[in-house]
Amino acid sequence: MTDLTRLSATELAAALTSGDVTSVEVTQAHLDRIAEVDPALHAFLAVDSDGALSQARAADQRLAGAGSAQSLPELLGVPIAVKDIATTKGLTTTAGSRILEGWVPPYDATLVAKLRAAGLPILGKTNMDEFAMGSSTEHSAYGPTHNPWDLERVPGGSGGGSSAAVAGFEAPLAIGTDTGGSIRQPAAVTGTVGVKPTYGGVSRYGLIALASSLDQAGPVARTVLDAALLHDVIAGHDPMDSTSIDTEWPSMADAARHPGVDGLRVGVVTELGGEGYQPGARQRFEEVVELLVGAGADVVEVSCPHFRYAMSAYYLILPSEASSNLARYDAMRYGLRVAPDGVAEPSAEQVMAATREAGFGEEVKRRIILGTFALSSGYYDAYYGQAQKVRTLIARDFAAAFEQADVLISPTAPTTAFTIGEKYDDPLAMYLNDIATIPANLAGVPGMSVPSGLAPEDGLPVGVQLLAPALEDARLYTVGAAVERLLLDSWGGPLLDRAPALEVSA
Ligand code: GLN
Repeated sequence: MTDLTRLSATELAAALTSGDVTSVEVTQAHLDRIAEVDPALHAFLAVDSDGALSQARAADQRLAGAGSAQSLPELLGVPIAVKDIATTKGLTTTAGSRILEGWVPPYDATLVAKLRAAGLPILGKTNMDEFAMGSSTEHSAYGPTHNPWDLERVPGGSGGGSSAAVAGFEAPLAIGTDTGGSIRQPAAVTGTVGVKPTYGGVSRYGLIALASSLDQAGPVARTVLDAALLHDVIAGHDPMDSTSIDTEWPSMADAARHPGVDGLRVGVVTELGGEGYQPGARQRFEEVVELLVGAGADVVEVSCPHFRYAMSAYYLILPSEASSNLARYDAMRYGLRVAPDGVAEPSAEQVMAATREAGFGEEVKRRIILGTFALSSGYYDAYYGQAQKVRTLIARDFAAAFEQADVLISPTAPTTAFTIGEKYDDPLAMYLNDIATIPANLAGVPGMSVPSGLAPEDGLPVGVQLLAPALEDARLYTVGAAVERLLLDSWGGPLLDRAPALEVSA
């Protein structure tokens, strides 16, 4: 029998509707794979075998009961992993933090409710940098996740658990969140596909907030079509999220099924991809550009002069919003409560201080301090206000660039996966991993990372980033699927078939 964990979500969906396999078999195969390889990968913080299998049985009943497959959700019965930042009723949700250790949410995030309604069994919750702050998953309070391409290396972050689970064949699909790159950068360094939808495209209700004006959830998958199918499940207006966009989204799967770049205007962003990028990442990027030209695209160079200030603006806006969002962890409402040492009758403030001291990691504290400072009276205009102005200029750069090009393109990340520990003590080096992804979050536009090959110098995966105007997510799938097809032809098969460390049990 074929190894079910090697099939794409699209292939699994077809096998399920034709009755060749059951969701229980598919789900069990992935649970077995998790049991086998997760001790080495540590992609999961919680595995919900019983819950997943009972959802799989329900999916099988729906599959068996349907006279025609027409009315059934396309991914019915295909299992999925969910980043531990989305609340799951009855299943622990920690956001990678000690302060939420053991917290069991009383409700589902909207996107989780949508997954359940569409019949995707939830395998478990994936590891992440604490409160999604990081680019390596090393800032998880529960220990790092390892990259299936090389266990000594990071899988990117903050959503390294989701990308490693998908790259390591523990799950065909996963959910990530992207505030500055946490879906796209992990996708690039694990050889997977990751999409940050237009801000407001996927509901944030029930997602633990990092920076509310930047956060966006999206799909992680092994193919562009798989990502599109998942995007269609989770997108849509939600009255529970005031920033959710009330619009009819076109089918992303339909877009992915009609790849094309002929006559497309592709803008190479001058400011993304030059100095500081690993030569192999640039080389693979330039090859993609050549393939696009060969396929009939018009490639132009576009300049976005304010992108050079994106990182600085982001590291004022994000900490400011985070410091406010994280104020809710006050030792009263959720999770951890620590009594201060040697105080007989501690005040609420003393308990709060002791709890936050014990419950938050270093990176989280660093950003809370930074954000509190940036928002403080007398500094607000100089820092936060200034950063918001830069944000406007970046949005204008995008608007001007999209007059010249239908999509923008760049390397997703400056380097391949680095080794665990390499950048841990150097926050600035860590922050620079998102240099190419952050502008999209500041402007709210959608972005996708598609594998672009292996860097010649280390044989590790790199990705190409596609960006489209707000609301034009479907365009990313049309173009992403075309890029994927052109590259697959040149590689002669999927990149992930070449990942050496995937046989982690061997
Ligand atoms: N690495 C970036 C940060 O640390 C992005 C995080 C994210 O997208 N959640 O802020």
